[in-house]
Amino acid sequence: MTGFMNKYLPVWVLLLGCCGYAAGVQADDYAEARHKLVQEIESHVRATSEYLTKQALDPRVMQAIATVPRQEFVATELRSYAYYNQPLPIGHGQTISQPYIVAVMTDLLQLSPDSKVLEIGTGSGYQAAILAELTKQVYSIEIIKPLAEEAAARLTRLGYHNIKTKYADGYYGWQEHAPFDAIVVTAAASHVPPPLIKQLKVGGRMVIPVGSGFLTQELLLVNKGPGDKITTHQILPVRFVALTGGH
Ligand code: SAH
Repeated sequence: MTGFMNKYLPVWVLLLGCCGYAAGVQADDYAEARHKLVQEIESHVRATSEYLTKQALDPRVMQAIATVPRQEFVATELRSYAYYNQPLPIGHGQTISQPYIVAVMTDLLQLSPDSKVLEIGTGSGYQAAILAELTKQVYSIEIIKPLAEEAAARLTRLGYHNIKTKYADGYYGWQEHAPFDAIVVTAAASHVPPPLIKQLKVGGRMVIPVGSGFLTQELLLVNKGPGDKITTHQILPVRFVALTGGH
């Protein structure tokens, strides 16, 4: 019996080796594109260092950008554009954010591996995946049902088991899992939603674009200090789709 196994084992090893190799070649094509994207973001960060008050983002954030397969978050016909440093349409009038903005927003959150983070505006799920590379538990809310369902299925397929998604109006946050160490809003609000401030931990950080849904907005960093004292800093002029919903 042992002899039988030994005789045929190499065939299985060969087959496994073959499949692994084929998959590896494909993944490598995109790895090169991702590497170039990382370099482009680094150069864009240097060019905007006056706004960001730093010359480089957290290497962990850049590593996450170099890891998450952005081509999986866009339609097949847009895959060849997946590593351009620009937003792309994801249907329903919405977009997957520009990778530079995703990196900047993630960096501002200063996540640790233990952080519990809430995202408003799941969209494609790309930002959620970046967050999930950096921390143990991510919650993400999307108001457009088909997008919410597609993103949930995509994130499960890609193995992101530390992301919990829901179809709802994110203006009201996710009380059941509050308080959060960090909150990131990926659609422009006219004001910082009070329920989100309430659900932020003392010492927590929120990053949110605030302004008109049609014109340029300001990316704000909101800190909640001792005694629930709120301080805000304007970081960067940005352009996001509008936060919708019933508020
Ligand atoms: N983070 C996304 C980009 C999303 S674009 C990504 O990485 O792909 C902004 C998203 O916010 C859109 O999908 C939009 O439908 C969603 N959105 C707008 N208003 C919302 C609200 N009130 N609650 C939850 N999601 C909202």
